[in-house]
Amino acid sequence: MNFCYRLSEDEDVHLTFVMVEKKKLVNLFSQCPVCSSEASLRENCSGSLLTIHQLCDNDSCQFKRVWKSQEQLSRGTSEGNIAISNAIFMSGSSPAKALKMFKFMGMHVISYAAYMQHQKTFIIPSVDYIYDEEKAACMARVAGHSLTLSGDGRLDAFYHTTVVFFKSNETGGSSYMEKEGLRRCLASVMQSATVKELVTDRHPQIRKYLRDECPEVKHSFDTWHIAKGIILIYLSLFPWLMIEKEIIRLVKEKGL
Ligand SMILES: [Zn+2]
Repeated sequence: MNFCYRLSEDEDVHLTFVMVEKKKLVNLFSQCPVCSSEASLRENCSGSLLTIHQLCDNDSCQFKRVWKSQEQLSRGTSEGNIAISNAIFMSGSSPAKALKMFKFMGMHVISYAAYMQHQKTFIIPSVDYIYDEEKAACMARVAGHSLTLSGDGRLDAFYHTTVVFFKSNETGGSSYMEKEGLRRCLASVMQSATVKELVTDRHPQIRKYLRDECPEVKHSFDTWHIAKGIILIYLSLFPWLMIEKEIIRLVKEKGL
């Protein structure tokens, strides 16, 4: 039986690393490439980066070289180390657990402190840069248009989501964050486009805000939130139905 998972050509292009046993790798350097004499090796690891110092034992040759298992980006930082931090961050994994997994495998890996440093120095600034770039491109596409938008304060609803970051103490509490998020989104969009209609849930503060502050915007309620409300009313009226538990389970599972 073949347990190998064959990758398509498209997938293969994006795969950069392979897992190699350290002793197999070190064996490749045990012989001088010039005179074939035995060579002395000195190895050290910085996170997942392996550096091998090779020196030929033949006094008349004395060939020496330094080999690194990855491209070194700066002092103490290599492509593989950054790739580990990036993969943990982008997959939403717990860094402590992910790094522990590597240690259980016996694999050289970055420290938790290095992960935090990578996150602060490289990853978050990169996310900010791409976010700003994508946002600018999106705004350029809709500039001058009359738009119908939909949005929600949740990040896991079934929509493409525009994310607005701010601290809860800027708004006087988390209950005001949804309204403040909407206010900032609308202000940003309205700099270059017109919003003719906005589809949201029935959050009372949102309804009041749009009624008072944006009377020119038609406010509609989305059917998904209305359907959720009907299901909950239905369950409260007919609690004896056998399907109740299953519906509740599905509601929870689907995040309704
Ligand atoms: Zn040699």
